[in-house]
Amino acid sequence: MPGGMIASMRLTEGIYSVDGVRAANSYVVDTVDGVMVVDTGMPGNADRILACAERFGRAGGIRYIVLTHSDMDHVGSAARLKELTGAAVAIHGLDAPVLAGTEKSAKGGRLMGALRRLVRVSPVAPDMLLTNGERIGGFTVMHAPGHTPGSIVLFRADGVVFTGDALLSDKRGNVLPPSPRLSLDRVQADVSAGRIKALPTSLLLPGHGAPVRG
Ligand SMILES: [Zn+2]
Repeated sequence: MPGGMIASMRLTEGIYSVDGVRAANSYVVDTVDGVMVVDTGMPGNADRILACAERFGRAGGIRYIVLTHSDMDHVGSAARLKELTGAAVAIHGLDAPVLAGTEKSAKGGRLMGALRRLVRVSPVAPDMLLTNGERIGGFTVMHAPGHTPGSIVLFRADGVVFTGDALLSDKRGNVLPPSPRLSLDRVQADVSAGRIKALPTSLLLPGHGAPVRG
């Protein structure tokens, strides 16, 4: 990176968080088949994510853009990143219509309404619809509904777990439950959070907050 700019933080072998993506976390995972991006932040972050992938990906460019759910702070740069790279966009089928722009997010409230008027998110048609138990980029998909109907978690045998917004953390790396206010189904969200906590975890990488180790 020019001028000693920090492009990312290395979290463990082959996994980086993309620096400068605000509002939500975006991760780059280097795999033997190319890079898998997990979430893309708000619109305007595609170049940043691409720079990180180019710096740390050893086997070609971005192959997959996996979206943990369809909220704008996670899918905002997916359309542009796909345009730039030709990578396959993957999301759970239940969140696909919001991503593709054929359905509006069921999230109500004044804040979400105001955000949607302020921020234009380009829709993107997914290339892959992920289902529970499927494998992608060396990770297994767990359907973890509640925050949104199609929220997913990605976990790996070594205990690395991407949780999206199904389980969060604070700035200091303390695990936080999913936000009840922002969950479409609070009961389901709690059940999902319990299932995630039961996974053997060495490194929890949430959609918001700091990495949680151990
Ligand atoms: Zn979020």
